[in-house]
Amino acid sequence: MTAPARTVLVTGGASGIGRAVAQAFAEGGDRVAVADVDAEAAARTAKEIGATAVTVDVTDPASVTAGVERVAELLGPIDVLVNNAGIVAGGGLLVDLDLDIFDKVVAVNLRGTFTVTRTVAAGMIEAGRKGCIVNISSIGARQPTPGLGHYEATKAAVDALTRTAALELAGHGIRVNGVAPGPVHTPMTAGLMDDPDARGAWEARIPLGRIATTDDITPMVAFLASDRAAHITGTVVQVDGGQLLT
Ligand code: NAD
Repeated sequence: MTAPARTVLVTGGASGIGRAVAQAFAEGGDRVAVADVDAEAAARTAKEIGATAVTVDVTDPASVTAGVERVAELLGPIDVLVNNAGIVAGGGLLVDLDLDIFDKVVAVNLRGTFTVTRTVAAGMIEAGRKGCIVNISSIGARQPTPGLGHYEATKAAVDALTRTAALELAGHGIRVNGVAPGPVHTPMTAGLMDDPDARGAWEARIPLGRIATTDDITPMVAFLASDRAAHITGTVVQVDGGQLLT
């Protein structure tokens, strides 16, 4: 028996993990909105994977409200939200990092996740509809790497938000979980992966011996968004080849 089609909103869906997640839902028969600040890339991706593009900047609450309304108009009320939009924006030791980089990363990864979550959840509550939310975190929230403190702090905050949202929204039938990848081959990490020394250093930290592909990440997102996870909320599951064990 196939599950009924759902409306799925994936932020940052034009590239990398978001794109793969959007494609997996679309291939499963769902109506998928690729919501991204890069309008051109969103349109291209949506066309390629059989989804609908919506331009959304998660750092701008007005853009989020308009985008969420647009998705509901085009595809029907949102059943599943994947908060995937995220940036690193640069690296640097705490003592060196430009505070503009810190502010940018907080605005997208933390404030953006907060804004989209509250907007979509408020709509679900108002409509009296159950739903689920999956936040794309990072194992960096739990395992530090020098030079990435600004990014990792936002992901630890996303994990905290995942738990609070799960608790606040449980009574409305809305589940909230997270997936924490280790390093994944995407445009975000392409520069790093092209450098054999940097790539080797990352691989050496992974017990299963390889950097993930986006296809390693999508099954956990799909599972947490499915009825098979009906009794799971407030958890963040790592998909990291064992890196958190080291
Ligand atoms: P990516 O750079 O390939 O894609 C990110 C997408 O987010 C892009 O399409 C970009 O346009 C979009 N985006 C950026 N700012 C936005 C905004 N303000 N509003 C809407 N969309 C915006 O990155 P990726 O590697 O696929 O990362 C996706 C998520 O996975 C991020 O949250 C990232 O932190 C997380 N993650 C990635 C890795 C990795 O190794 N690649 C590891 C752990 C976690």
